[in-house]
Amino acid sequence: MTFYEITNEDRELVLLALDKLSLTFDDGVYRHTVGAGLRCKNGRVYTGVNCDGIHGSCAEYIAIGLAVSSGEREFETIVAVHELAVNSVVPPCGNCRQMLFEYAPEIKVILNDDQGRLVKVGVKDLLPFAWRPVIVGQ
Ligand SMILES: [Zn+2]
Repeated sequence: MTFYEITNEDRELVLLALDKLSLTFDDGVYRHTVGAGLRCKNGRVYTGVNCDGIHGSCAEYIAIGLAVSSGEREFETIVAVHELAVNSVVPPCGNCRQMLFEYAPEIKVILNDDQGRLVKVGVKDLLPFAWRPVIVGQ
């Protein structure tokens, strides 16, 4: 597994995601508890919060969906945050890992390692032997 350096831009991404979460947190209802920060290769940043519901959506989905809806196609780094988490960072769930693998196979993910240190790794390292769409003829 390759570990990438945590940059000042990465720390800023965490703070931007926390800012988005604080702006949209609906105290007492707890629908929006996770934020996500997504930085594209062109430097643009998109942030989002999870949406609750029967088939709710993780914050990473919202951030990727916002970016894709805005025409973005190349993604650099993503992080999910919760204000009570170690380093304010939470790992992507299995469903998000698969979505990121399909939408942005080269994206890097900021999360904590087993010792609580902030690290940045490629999404492919978070999903070994990943499911891939079967394309006839390949
Ligand atoms: Zn998720």
